[in-house]
Amino acid sequence: MPFSSEFSFRTCPWCNTQDVSMYVKLQDVEFKVAAGGHKQWNWLGCPRCGNVISIETSTQSKRIVKVVPEEPLSALKVNHLPSDVEEYYTNAQTVLNAGVPSSAAVELRRTLEAAAHHQGVNERTLVKAIEKLAEEGLITANFMGVLGHIRKVGNVGAHAGEQTLTREEVEKAMAFTTQVLRNLFEMPKELELLGMPTEENNRQDSDEK
Ligand SMILES: [Zn+2]
Repeated sequence: MPFSSEFSFRTCPWCNTQDVSMYVKLQDVEFKVAAGGHKQWNWLGCPRCGNVISIETSTQSKRIVKVVPEEPLSALKVNHLPSDVEEYYTNAQTVLNAGVPSSAAVELRRTLEAAAHHQGVNERTLVKAIEKLAEEGLITANFMGVLGHIRKVGNVGAHAGEQTLTREEVEKAMAFTTQVLRNLFEMPKELELLGMPTEENNRQDSDEK
């Protein structure tokens, strides 16, 4: 089946731009499958960030089979975030992918500050807030070993012009932030959804050891 033009309107998995009209570079490219039959791929580009999205379409019907990368990038996806935290976090990804690491750092600082605030932690500096979260057992103490990755982020925006961050530094701060958010919001909620531990679950757990 030929590629349908409606497939070109998508949310970019790289920069999170919503419902953007992608460039369609290659359409209906067929690859023979050794075991028989063939697959059909299409190659799209985001007009905002310039990254590529590959889409496999069904050879039988007007249907998408697979999108690479998935949307949004699953490595950065965190479920169950409060709306303000999610907004700052999404902004950070958007501006980082648009090539503005210092703005991304500001958004990451806001993300972590808002996240701490939701846990009732309102320390004056970002590093102190993370230390307090660990102290209260809200995040794992392992974060203390990699606090360095957000030290500079905490100063950006507070002292304009004094600090610049490289893309690599911001990517590390982003990875740190993702794990903090998962620890604070995603994991507790997922566990809650699994239900309270029952005797049977506990017994199964000890059997597996
Ligand atoms: Zn994009």
